[in-house]
Amino acid sequence: MDAHPTIFHFVEGIRSKLDAAGFNEITERDLARLRRGGKYYLTRNGTSLVAFRVGLDFVPGPDAVNVVASHIDANRLTLKPSSIADSVMGYLQIATAPYADGGNNTWWDRDLGLGGRVIVKRRGAVFSKIIRLPGIVGSTPTLAPHFGAMPTNLEQMPVVSTLGREPTPTVREKEAPLYGKHSLRLLRAVAKAAFCEVDEILEWDLEMFSAESARIGGLDEDLLYCSRMDDKLCSYSAIEGLISASEHAHLVQMVALYDNEEIGSETRQGARGNLLDVALAAVFSSLNATTDERRQTIANSYLVSADVTHAGNPNYAKAYLENHVPLLNIGVAVKRLGRFAGSGVDAGVAQLVSARCDQKLQYFAPRNDTRTGGTIGPMLAAHTGMPTVDVGIPIMSMHSIREITGVHDVELGKQWFATFLAEPIYIAN
Ligand code: ZN
Ligand code: ZN
Repeated sequence: MDAHPTIFHFVEGIRSKLDAAGFNEITERDLARLRRGGKYYLTRNGTSLVAFRVGLDFVPGPDAVNVVASHIDANRLTLKPSSIADSVMGYLQIATAPYADGGNNTWWDRDLGLGGRVIVKRRGAVFSKIIRLPGIVGSTPTLAPHFGAMPTNLEQMPVVSTLGREPTPTVREKEAPLYGKHSLRLLRAVAKAAFCEVDEILEWDLEMFSAESARIGGLDEDLLYCSRMDDKLCSYSAIEGLISASEHAHLVQMVALYDNEEIGSETRQGARGNLLDVALAAVFSSLNATTDERRQTIANSYLVSADVTHAGNPNYAKAYLENHVPLLNIGVAVKRLGRFAGSGVDAGVAQLVSARCDQKLQYFAPRNDTRTGGTIGPMLAAHTGMPTVDVGIPIMSMHSIREITGVHDVELGKQWFATFLAEPIYIAN
C-alpha cells in the first residue's frame, strides 16, 4: 500500500505479481488465441484489470466462470487541469479537485504525497510514465481553534512551499504545453521524477494522497492502520486469492478490478464498461464456443462483488442495525438489503463459501433510517446475467483518509476469495 499509492502504481504492482505467478499479458488490440490451462491478464487505461485462468478441461456450455469483481479507485485529490494559484502570503499552493470523498475533513493537516501518470512525448513517440515525487509534498493546514469558527472549503489548497515566487523559465520551458498551467517548480519536479524535460510533458493524471505508511498496531497488534483500503484491500485479496486458489479443470477462474466505482462506474475502465465482456469473449472465441454455449456458460457462472464493508464502530453503535454488525478479525461479511446484489439464494452461496473455508459468515444490513453506499454488484449482475452476491472485508472509518481493518482480515479475505474461485457454484433453478 505504501509503494503503490495511486491506482496507476497499484495496477503496475498487480501486473508484476501476475507476471511472477506465470500469467501472460494479452491486449485488446491483439487478443491471442487462448489455451485451456493458460493464465492471462488484460488491462485497460492502466487503471482496470481482468486476470483469469482457463481450466485444463474447460468446455463452453456445461462449464462455468467464477468471477470476483472489485474496484481499485480510491478517494483522492486530483490536480486541476491548471493547478497554478496566485501566491498568497508568499506561499506556493497547488489547486486540487476532490475525487469522490477525497479532500473531506479528514484530509486536513495530513502528510500528502504527489504522484500518478505523466504523458511524455519524445522523438515523435508518446508514452506514459508512472511517477511519485519523493517524500511529503504538502498538506492543507487547519486554522487554530483560537480563531473561532473555521469553515473549511474544498477550494482551499494544499500548501507545498514557503517560496511562492516562480523561477525564470528557460526558452524551451516557455514553449512547454503545460507552461503557465502549473507552477514551474512543480513542472520541474515532475519532469525530474519522469526523467524527461519540462517541454516533453504533454499532460498528466497526477494526484495528492496520504503519504503516511501503513502500520500494524493496537495493544495486541491486531489492528491495521492504512489509507486507500476502499478498495485496494478487496482488490489485493482477490488477486492473492486467484494466484493461490487450487485450479479447477472445468472452471474459468477470474478476477475483475475496476476504476471509477467511487464516481458511478460509467466509464470505459469502470464496471459499466465492457472489459469483462471482452475477456469472456476472448475465452469463448478461442475455444470456438457457439452463442448457445456462451449463454449456457453464463447461466452456470457466478459472480462475487467484493467491496469493503462497515465494521462496527463502538463510538457510533447506534448507527448500526443490531445483529447486522460485522467485526474485525472474524471474516468476510455478506451484504443484504440496501442497494446490494443478491437474494436469499445468494446469501446461501456466501454461507457455503464461508463454511468451506471455516469462516463464520458475518452479515451487514443498513438501518431503515440510514443509507449506505452502492457497489458494482447490481450493475454487473444486470449486465452479465450472472447470479451475484455482494460481500466485503470489514473496515472502520470508510472514506476517511486513514482507515482501519483487522490484521487478519487481509488473509481472511484472500482465503474466502480463493475458496470461492476453487469450486463451481451449482444453483438449482
Ligand atoms: Zn467507497
Ligand atoms: Zn468501495
